[in-house]
Amino acid sequence: MSTAQGRETPAALARPAEVEVAIVGAGLAGTSLAAVLGKSGHKVALIDPHLVHHDEFRAEKIGMKQMRVFEKLGLGPAIRPLVTPMTDIHVFRLGQLFQRQRKWEFAFSYGALVNGMRQALPPQVPLTVGKVVEVSTGPDRQRLVLTNGAVIEARLLVVATGYSEALRRAVGIERVEESKAHSLSIGFDLAITPQECAYPAVTCYARNPADRIAYLSVFPIGNRLRGNMFVYRTVAEEWTRAFRENPQAMLCELMPEIARQCGNFAVAGPVEVRQVSLTTTREHRRAGVVTIGDAFWTTCPTPGIGINRVVTDVERLASSYIPAWLKTPGMDADKICGFYDDPVKVATDKAGMRSSIYAKRITIETGLEWRLRRLRNNTARKLMILGRKIRHRDALPTPSVA
Ligand SMILES: Cc1cc2nc3c(=O)[nH]c(=O)nc-3n(C[C@H](O)[C@H](O)[C@H](O)COP(=O)(O)OP(=O)(O)OC[C@H]3O[C@@H](n4cnc5c(N)ncnc54)[C@H](O)[C@@H]3O)c2cc1C
Repeated sequence: MSTAQGRETPAALARPAEVEVAIVGAGLAGTSLAAVLGKSGHKVALIDPHLVHHDEFRAEKIGMKQMRVFEKLGLGPAIRPLVTPMTDIHVFRLGQLFQRQRKWEFAFSYGALVNGMRQALPPQVPLTVGKVVEVSTGPDRQRLVLTNGAVIEARLLVVATGYSEALRRAVGIERVEESKAHSLSIGFDLAITPQECAYPAVTCYARNPADRIAYLSVFPIGNRLRGNMFVYRTVAEEWTRAFRENPQAMLCELMPEIARQCGNFAVAGPVEVRQVSLTTTREHRRAGVVTIGDAFWTTCPTPGIGINRVVTDVERLASSYIPAWLKTPGMDADKICGFYDDPVKVATDKAGMRSSIYAKRITIETGLEWRLRRLRNNTARKLMILGRKIRHRDALPTPSVA
């Protein structure tokens, strides 16, 4: 900040910036919420330590349901240029083509998506680059002090800091580990272009539960052909080290049914590996503060529901809760709890956690119940594959008899 003479004033001596809502964390959740609230005329501060979101491996695909929510929130024009749409997904199960899914999916690089959305923020919502070093919260005012001494005062504090713990801990919110090292997400570029791949997009499920693999998804992001594989293993395992060292050989052995069509799985660039735990939150029902996205719960990427929870939080807060909260004085815990008890939010979070746990058990669990469930599912799938083959054979023209 500068004085009328143009000299720098220590930020600590400057007057606090007063806003209605201070959002800490400019990932997908924080940036989306800031954009929607800013566009509807609310005074918002958005704070993140990094001007540019680094290009780390995170969600790389959303479905039509999430895209519709972004559209409903008015974020469609910002998001559409940043995604690669696809609609013809070849699904392989049991080593064979199982079905072709004609559903819309949209792929992206997470960093590019978040940075694109930051650039599309309305001018009245600038990104404040800084870390919160002090925080005090209460039923009326929330006060944040940043690393440079700047002070922001707000009626509501939104914690959208993802996996990071510092701010949550300072506020008194605790993370509860429901399933530690639940799964491993592996991301890599394939060496061929999307045009050289035999499929517009392909999902291939593992055949053998002992492989501990949920599935491999191969899809285009712009001109890159991307692979995401979700496995139930840990970073420390020998399997993970071996995969990092020679992904091509292991993929060819694990999924020979699609290897040739995917350029024999020649991999370009590094193999990124991220361990994911399932976590929930305790002590979050407090005055003045609301926690969203991965700062609230983390689920498993395998069923692809992380972004669903993010967009649900943003939609519920921006459309219903925050505008109503700001209309009346105070920001007591009762107001905040309305959001945590919102039936749509509760159902979305619970479904995300349930499907994260189910996806793992149905893939690798060895107890009788789960073996029987796999047998039932795979028998039904084999019959469907057989039925399709018979229909296809019957549809062929009968060879004419000479
Ligand atoms: C490997 C992987 C693959 C995934 N794949 C999928 C998928 O296929 N489908 C799906 O739906 N979901 C997937 N997810 C989940 C999805 O990526 C997350 O749910 C989503 O990105 C969460 O967004 P967020 O804004 O809550 O958090 P983030 O995007 O992590 O944003 C947090 C922000 O807070 C900032 N921050 C942190 N600490 C501070 C602080 N003290 N002060 C200020 N700012 C701070 C960070 O810089 C960051 O910008 C995946 C997750 C992972 C890890």
